[in-house]
Amino acid sequence: MKCPKCGSNEVQCSGSKCRCLVCGNEFYTCSICGEAFSTAQQLAAHMKKHRRNDDPSLRELVLELEELRKTVEELRQAVERLEAALHGLQRQPLTPHPATNEELPDFVKDNPWLQVLHKKRDT
Ligand SMILES: [Zn+2]
Ligand SMILES: [Zn+2]
Repeated sequence: MKCPKCGSNEVQCSGSKCRCLVCGNEFYTCSICGEAFSTAQQLAAHMKKHRRNDDPSLRELVLELEELRKTVEELRQAVERLEAALHGLQRQPLTPHPATNEELPDFVKDNPWLQVLHKKRDT
């Protein structure tokens, strides 16, 4: 930062307001481009120009943010789907199939002794 009056580098700034330590000149500097102004009004008018110039990039950022939000939402939904699928897979071995649970095991059904017993009962 240089004093616009004497060109000295010994300048003390707090925010946009600066004071030259050599000549005591007070001035205002633009935080974006560093241009110096003698009054706060001049700086305010200058900043308006920056704001206008910044608009397109700001819109771009907003759009980019929107896109990222959409992506995040999609990823969140994908994670939910995967988690649900994973829970389903984890549950499967724990819950026995109801049909096989009610049926007699094959070794009992095909047991020849059962038929022998039935025949004995019949006679
Ligand atoms: Zn100065
Ligand atoms: Zn500026």
